[in-house]
Amino acid sequence: MTVQPAPGGRAVIPGPFEYHRPNSLPEAVALLADLGEDARPLGGGHSLIPMMKLRLAAPQHLIDLAGIGDLKGIRSDGGDVVIGAMTTQHEIVGSDLLAAQLPILRETALLIADPQVRYVGTLGGNVANGDPGNDLPAVMLCLDATYHVVGKGGERRIPARQFYRGAYFTALEPGEILTAVRIPVPPSGHGAAYEKLKRKIGDYATAAAAVVLTLRGGNVATCSIGLTNVAETPLWAETAASLLVGSSLDPATVKRAVAAAEAITSPAADTRGPIEYRTKMAGVMLARGLARAHQRARNA
Ligand SMILES: Cc1cc2nc3c(=O)[nH]c(=O)nc-3n(C[C@H](O)[C@H](O)[C@H](O)COP(=O)(O)OP(=O)(O)OC[C@H]3O[C@@H](n4cnc5c(N)ncnc54)[C@H](O)[C@@H]3O)c2cc1C
Repeated sequence: MTVQPAPGGRAVIPGPFEYHRPNSLPEAVALLADLGEDARPLGGGHSLIPMMKLRLAAPQHLIDLAGIGDLKGIRSDGGDVVIGAMTTQHEIVGSDLLAAQLPILRETALLIADPQVRYVGTLGGNVANGDPGNDLPAVMLCLDATYHVVGKGGERRIPARQFYRGAYFTALEPGEILTAVRIPVPPSGHGAAYEKLKRKIGDYATAAAAVVLTLRGGNVATCSIGLTNVAETPLWAETAASLLVGSSLDPATVKRAVAAAEAITSPAADTRGPIEYRTKMAGVMLARGLARAHQRARNA
């Protein structure tokens, strides 16, 4: 289908493009390979279509992945959970499996936008987009997820921690489709939290922090931290997390970890606040996330 300019010569928003709806993954991969860099996969369209309306993206062809059943669903696979790229954010919120094994995903998805966006917006679109404001990528860094991608050269598996290269710049090659996200389930008894500061419902994060930790004998045995929207990419705060291992999360150690996390941020000054404020808010979100994850681990 070609979307045409409106009668009278005024361009509709977005500009003209051709719409394709393949029914299988091989068909989608072939279309992307044939159409080249003028083609883009379409997930829920809740980031791409606004970009097209603003003329910040102008693909000539949209390859809608909605007709490919294989890209949907949430399942256990050994010690991992595998989530299809076209699984919606709403389905993440409603999944009993995720609520039991990876509750941080439900908590995070509930903080994305509003129900209307979540009904349509997909996991794959959220993590493949490359927008540092997206909430799920930092959680994937925190959980050490792996992205399954397929292109005309076959399948690749990319650790989330190696996926984000810059704003809207990821390890995806042109023509590749993210098919699924594989997440190792943290041990039972882990505590996790996603703390997000936003100006209002539906807003992207001023700053946010994802925390997953385990305890042994009252002290932190393992810890992982991800940060959202305080740099050009989501951040995995490895040094901050390692400072906490072995500690009882006492205030002095938490303060050192917060400082280490703030030190790796480089937020832009924008309508959400100046650089100093957003840096500090990353630290505040981390301290809150640690406290909440700690409490949950103790109560598990
Ligand atoms: C009002 C509003 C508020 C929002 N607030 C938030 C928020 O607070 N937090 C947040 O995280 N997000 C927010 N979003 C974004 C929302 O979560 C989007 O759904 C998400 O960013 C993109 O998912 P999508 O399925 O809509 O992808 P699309 O918009 O279809 O695609 C986004 C990009 O990913 C690519 N892509 C999509 N799927 C694949 C795939 N399977 N393989 C390869 N490439 C793919 C597309 O080509 C495109 O470049 C908001 C959106 C709106 C409209």
